[in-house]
Amino acid sequence: MLPIIAIDGISGAGKSSTAKRVAAELGFCHIDTGAMYRTLTWAALQKGLRPDQTAELGKLAQSLRFEFNEENRIRVNGEELDPHIRSPEVSAQVSTYCQPIEVRQAIVEQQRKLGHSRPTLLEGRDIGTVVFPDARWKFYMTANPETRAKRRVLELKAAGIEASEDEILQNLLERDEKDTNRANSPLRKADGAVEIDTSGLTMDEQVSMISRLVRRDLAV
Ligand code: C5P
Repeated sequence: MLPIIAIDGISGAGKSSTAKRVAAELGFCHIDTGAMYRTLTWAALQKGLRPDQTAELGKLAQSLRFEFNEENRIRVNGEELDPHIRSPEVSAQVSTYCQPIEVRQAIVEQQRKLGHSRPTLLEGRDIGTVVFPDARWKFYMTANPETRAKRRVLELKAAGIEASEDEILQNLLERDEKDTNRANSPLRKADGAVEIDTSGLTMDEQVSMISRLVRRDLAV
């Protein structure tokens, strides 16, 4: 089995913040795969591409070279694109633009290359099911909608983006619906994944649930 930690789950369940800390504690590279689909969406909107222009979107996805720097911040073709890729416009469109098979193939290929190069934690929607079904550790994170919306508002605020809780809640629910019901790589819990409901958990608790399990296996 590959030394890969796969964390999947619904939007806003706390995957990114948890993943960041777990990866730092364990010395794993951290790949935020949602940021890759957000970048594709941002670039497509800049170019005025529609979601049904699937061949063009696939080519665009192939042209994006993703790197993650020492702090695991995403760089694309040498540029840092945060906070543009977290904007409400991108959040509203990403679950549509990420669907074409041409887009997914191009982006998954890069995820596999990045993951094969060193011990890596990847977080997203299809990591344990499609990208790395052989991952050694798999987790599936959930939380109730209100908790997710509250946390996301705080995260965005910290990044300098103002948003209302109602709008965020609406966006999270719409994305859950699209991500779960799409034909290609729908969001679902991978076989053997450990489910973590983060609603009543502190960040320290979420982090240690995952780190402890991985450390226990690595010590064997
Ligand atoms: O993780 P984040 O919420 O930033 O992801 C944004 C969107 O990208 C998700 O709602 C989903 O539509 C898409 N995504 C995906 N597969 C992944 C990661 C994200 O389809 N592995």
